[in-house]
Amino acid sequence: MPASQAVLNGLAADGGLYVPEEIPKLAVPAEQLAEMSYQDLAYEVMRLFLTDYTEEELRHCINSAYDSKFDTPEIAPLRQADGAWFLELFHGATIAFKDMALSILPYLMTTAARKNQITNEIVILTATSGDTGKAAMAGFADVPGTRIIVFYPKDGVSPVQERQMVTQKGKNTYVVAIHGNFDDAQTGVKKIFGNKELERELDKAGYQFSSANSINIGRLVPQVAYYVYAYAQLLKKGAIRSGEIINVTVPTGNFGNILAAYYAKQMGMPIGKLICASNENKVLCDFFATGIYDKNREFVLTSSPSMDILVSSNLERLIYRIAGEDAVKTKELMEALSGGGKYEITPEMRAQLSDFYGNYASEDEVAQTIARIYGQEHYVLDTHTAVAASVYGKYKAASGDGTVTVIASTASPYKFARSVLHAIDGAKYDGMTDLEQIDALAEVSGVKVPGAIEEIRTAPVRHHREADVDGMEDAVKQILGLK
Ligand SMILES: *Cc1c(COP(=O)(O)O)cnc(C)c1O
Repeated sequence: MPASQAVLNGLAADGGLYVPEEIPKLAVPAEQLAEMSYQDLAYEVMRLFLTDYTEEELRHCINSAYDSKFDTPEIAPLRQADGAWFLELFHGATIAFKDMALSILPYLMTTAARKNQITNEIVILTATSGDTGKAAMAGFADVPGTRIIVFYPKDGVSPVQERQMVTQKGKNTYVVAIHGNFDDAQTGVKKIFGNKELERELDKAGYQFSSANSINIGRLVPQVAYYVYAYAQLLKKGAIRSGEIINVTVPTGNFGNILAAYYAKQMGMPIGKLICASNENKVLCDFFATGIYDKNREFVLTSSPSMDILVSSNLERLIYRIAGEDAVKTKELMEALSGGGKYEITPEMRAQLSDFYGNYASEDEVAQTIARIYGQEHYVLDTHTAVAASVYGKYKAASGDGTVTVIASTASPYKFARSVLHAIDGAKYDGMTDLEQIDALAEVSGVKVPGAIEEIRTAPVRHHREADVDGMEDAVKQILGLK
């Protein structure tokens, strides 16, 4: 199947995830990559996966995505601290790493629609627990040929997250607050996707649904680029010699970000260990330790909510690789997971996981890490990145491995100001309002308040829609003028 079709479909008809037929090898030498802009380098990586996009099409997608929406021309700068290199992936529109993929996905999708002679308008439906919906809207806002409808649980997101969503600009963005929880919203969206009659009705009116979900291959491929970029930049800075191996540490939830690093390694980048960092929802950490994936456990709410996940969907793609690209075996394991919530891989499969190291950080360790690195270096980490920094410390202590290490820094501390300030000095900051905390963090960190946060202080509320869970389909029809 052409890559563009996989981007359009999102999920295969049998419920499986799309994977590249083979992981391509990077042909451009690192010295040459080191001289490239982020955009040119991203093109060299992405063209190897998205093989049916023309050079003109792909460069247009890349240049439209990685522009002044990012507050630095480097797009993903490296910052040295605490004996590692933090790859800051939070300089986009919503100050979290999902912008790296969601700023380009709309262009990959509309280009794919054109290539596949689809004239319908693409309607993106997303259920969100807070972050993904905003990042997806920021990506799709005013992209011609698309509309985006986001459902969020009315009482299930933070005040800042809610404000970020209801102030979203763009003539093609719609936000609906659901009287229910995140699971209700997600189930509702799945039901709408599965409704064949609605699909026909939409088609007649010139629309078709698609998903910006993190399992879309169009979100994974752009993420491979920044690991290659990090290597090239380390070389350029003289932090490594050509060919020198580096390790990568990733704060992990759905396993998308670290899978991108694994793909970068398979492409031939000199990457050694892939250090998978979990919070107290440590199902992945246990998987790497035992070869058993078991989601039957208590779900813990932590200060790194974007990693509060028990089913890491993208792990399916790693399972497929270590099963020797055996789709039947992969399906068996995934069915065991959706049935009994558990599966065990074979010793042969486990043997292929030696590149991975998994561990987790407790809530106390996360807070201590934020306070320690702030105290030592005056560098403020967000809670997710602190999970990674803490686990990297454990790895280094256990292994004595001093290899140069990149830590994926997935959110700006401004996104989680309350937890971050609490870690630095609870007594001093806990009593402040959310807005006061923004100012306090600016003082503490010496980092200017990002535009994304500044904006929500003054932006007018544009979205007022609410719906009951069983009214979600009607809301969609109303938005699309079908009733
Ligand atoms: C989504 C997210 C993660 C987890 O990334 P995965 O690709 O799901 O593993 C980590 N940190 C932040 C801030 C996120 O938003």
